[in-house]
Amino acid sequence: MTIAVSAIQLGEDEERLVLEVLRSGRLAQGPMVERFEAQVADMAGTLHAVAMSSGTTALVAALEAVQLSPGDEVLTSPFTFVATLNAILEAGATATFCDIGSDFNMDPERISEAITPRTRVLMPVHLYGQAADMGAITDHASVSGLAVVEDAAQAHGASCGGRPVGSFGIGCFSFYATKNVTTAEGGAVTTDDDAIADRLRLLRGQGMRERYQYEIAGHNYRMTELQAALGIPQMDRLAALTQARRRNAARLTEGLRDLGGLQVPAAFADRTHVYHQYTVMVTEEAGIDRDQLSAGLAARGVGSGVYYPRVVFDYECYRGHPRVVPADVPRATRAASRVLSLPVHPLLSDAEIDSVIDAVRECVGA
Ligand SMILES: *Cc1c(COP(=O)(O)O)cnc(C)c1O
Repeated sequence: MTIAVSAIQLGEDEERLVLEVLRSGRLAQGPMVERFEAQVADMAGTLHAVAMSSGTTALVAALEAVQLSPGDEVLTSPFTFVATLNAILEAGATATFCDIGSDFNMDPERISEAITPRTRVLMPVHLYGQAADMGAITDHASVSGLAVVEDAAQAHGASCGGRPVGSFGIGCFSFYATKNVTTAEGGAVTTDDDAIADRLRLLRGQGMRERYQYEIAGHNYRMTELQAALGIPQMDRLAALTQARRRNAARLTEGLRDLGGLQVPAAFADRTHVYHQYTVMVTEEAGIDRDQLSAGLAARGVGSGVYYPRVVFDYECYRGHPRVVPADVPRATRAASRVLSLPVHPLLSDAEIDSVIDAVRECVGA
């Protein structure tokens, strides 16, 4: 009997809407996608949401929408999923990195030293569902005249200073199978800027405004009606799903916070965390390392996950890449060797959360 680190819950509402699409004869982007976009815009508190085929294509389109030139740099977090980096490269830009803080996100204190004369975009990642310190990040952006593109792929409904993520700059969401809301594969870009939204819609559909009237070189990044039909009922349930994640996280923290060898997720008064992952740091004091804890949990029927085992540019395929500029990022490097994510998803019962707590405590000998 294993307690899984993530779980998907799709019900009768999703089945009914998907069937409605199948019977409608309209499969590609249409009215369901428009309904889904309205829900995403509502979640992010923005005027526009433009659905895309994935979180990765959302990031590429967002970067293309700010119209970068070759040599322009995008400053991002080194502690993220590889899609963040690949999107920067796909958009033709150069990736540079800024070390993380205790929230596992881009540290505003390190931004000034990482900005160069070629920096055009700050691209914070709201990792694990913890909103980055957007007040400080947007201050840097306005002082230096930079665009902000938020990688909110893991942070549906999180906020900073009462404002939803995805509304501080150009917001990019993913609806991949394991994300807090899923359309199997899917993404969306959020913005208040009419001109950016217009450009995103063009980029998504081959750069075409009217039939055979091409204005820019575009892509096919469209979402299907089937994907949107899966997402609509989940967006309706998002507040309840997020509340369940937060309740589970609070219970985990209550049960684990006294352990000297574990650092529980940082909490900030003015930011919300939607716990896409509940991620602890296994410190030197624990007596065992991260991989031993993971193996110990598995032996006790508790799943866990490592997100992510290396800093994003630390792979052979990026070494010597002309548009990947490695940086000295000791905090991200340390996190990569010490983080472990525990089950926190909304389907877990209190008894299962308590089993996770007991298993962790046994493993670290507490
Ligand atoms: C999932 C994810 C993406 C990419 O989204 P896809 O929908 O898988 O393309 C980008 N950034 C982060 C941080 C993610 O977790």
